Amino acid sequence: MLNIILMGPPGAGKGTQAVKLERAFKLPHISTGDMFREEISSGSELGNQVKAIIEKGDLVPDELTVAIVKARLSKDDCAAGYILDGFPRTIPQAEALEKMGEEIGRKVGLVINISAPDEELVRRIGGRRVCPKCGASYNVVSMKPRKEGICDRCGSPLIQRKDDNEASFKVRLANYYKSTAPLLSFYKGKGLLHDFDGMVGSDKLFEELRTLLNVSE
Ligand code: AMP
Repeated sequence: MLNIILMGPPGAGKGTQAVKLERAFKLPHISTGDMFREEISSGSELGNQVKAIIEKGDLVPDELTVAIVKARLSKDDCAAGYILDGFPRTIPQAEALEKMGEEIGRKVGLVINISAPDEELVRRIGGRRVCPKCGASYNVVSMKPRKEGICDRCGSPLIQRKDDNEASFKVRLANYYKSTAPLLSFYKGKGLLHDFDGMVGSDKLFEELRTLLNVSE
């Protein structure tokens, strides 16, 4: 069973790798960011509650985030494993995940941490374009889609995320160092952490992850 968490600062490449892993290992890709963005575009009550927080780059309160993850991880398609992308982001979220993992029999087995220097993260976020429909991510400089402005996977027009601006990015990065980076020692202490260099290029990184997951499966 592959119960995986993908960790790393914004722009490290979590989403890109999650999409590749989802396809290769046939596991559901659970991105809390994508789930919140869907709630926002559907105009739901939850979407309205979190819209301003997300646009500013702040973290959504733990209770709301934990509740959507618990509901999602309880679904049948997670029985053979899952890829969590963007969750947990705080120690209370990690503790809640431990508890729910035990309750529903879906404990985390592997934490993949992807790192990259801050200057590179800023550069990547500035050029990032995403598909609002399928969640695929591109970069206008380093990871262009085959047809400009169009998603390779599903043909939808690409957009720039509202929080991919300099001011929100600064807040997101500060939140990462303050609230999320402490999770690395939390998972290291449990012997679950595997570190990867996000600068090696997305294909090479994927091969490295694939090797790790093949032996862990
Ligand atoms: P992401 O797509 O992972 O970059 O997430 C986009 C935004 O959604 C974040 O900047 C937060 O505002 C919110 N978000 C996503 N995941 C979480 C989480 N685990 N805890 C709190 N807020 C989150």
